Amino acid sequence: MKKKITVLIPAYNEEQVLPMLQKRLHTLGESLPNYELEFLFVNDGSRDGTMQLIRDWAEHDTRVSYIDFARNFGKEIGMIAGFDHIKSDATVIIDADLQDPPELIPKMIELWEQGYDDVYARRRSRTGETWFKKKTSEWYYRVLQKSTRIPIQRDTGDFRLLSQRCITALTQLRESQRNTKALFSWIGFKKKEILYDRDPRAAGETKWNYAKLINLAIDGITSFTTAPLRLSSLLGGLVSLVAFIYIAYLLIRPLFGVPTGSGYASLMAVILFLGGVQLLSLGVIGEYIGRIFNETKQRPLYLIDEYHESTQHTKK
Ligand code: UDP
Ligand code: MG
Repeated sequence: MKKKITVLIPAYNEEQVLPMLQKRLHTLGESLPNYELEFLFVNDGSRDGTMQLIRDWAEHDTRVSYIDFARNFGKEIGMIAGFDHIKSDATVIIDADLQDPPELIPKMIELWEQGYDDVYARRRSRTGETWFKKKTSEWYYRVLQKSTRIPIQRDTGDFRLLSQRCITALTQLRESQRNTKALFSWIGFKKKEILYDRDPRAAGETKWNYAKLINLAIDGITSFTTAPLRLSSLLGGLVSLVAFIYIAYLLIRPLFGVPTGSGYASLMAVILFLGGVQLLSLGVIGEYIGRIFNETKQRPLYLIDEYHESTQHTKK
């Protein structure tokens, strides 16, 4: 029996790159004759011809499976839907836009065969990204790592090979506001890094923008750690202490004959500062309450319009 490897591909409006992807995956299949491959697409409510292309492909390629979502749910949810449908020995998650070179997969499989559970690709360079994006991401990782004991992999995306026990572990994490990157770190297991150069997107447009990135960053922090809550308590304590000392100073001052002035500026400064700190702390608490609210709704993570399972492994 050949071992089965699933290539999981979340795709949203990717009609322009799919033909290229098809070619690259075909070549990949030829370079891995000793494995049974499955190409599992999650069509995330694409509004272009993506679904039709996948369907056509599945018609003449028995390796192709697909999940067609009822609407756009986002890549994070696309991945958990994929995990739920995987019955393989190992899974590789890859972007549809060929930013993750499929040629790296044989190397990942090799390391997996040596006993690693999570072979993740770390970007050596980030071609086609702005200086600002690189810097912000660097700071973000640094802050995130300081806030938790769990080792976080830097400069890695979702491009990785996972053993089936990692997949099983991930399917048990059912939170709705997902930051899958944080979950990969959380599950642990034997990890191995390989370096690669991330290519620019082959065609089409990125679906990311700064608003989405900021949301993902906040989700990353709030799903990982409650440190910001602790931080706002500490900040509150610190501000109170300073305020207390200042009050004491104000009370003592007249004893030494210093006249009490009108003090409009200092009064305003204190009021505004305290107001700001309070709002900030409330906002932090609000973030966590928002998460609690979303999780308590207990909605299904996704809804599937159509599921097609590759027919390959059913024939003996
Ligand atoms: N994607 C998705 N749902 C979305 C947005 C993106 O499934 O709502 C997929 C997209 O098709 C691609 C991958 O997620 O395969 C990464 O998206 P993108 O290339 O736009 O992000 P970037 O590489 O710029 O971070
Ligand atoms: Mg991309």
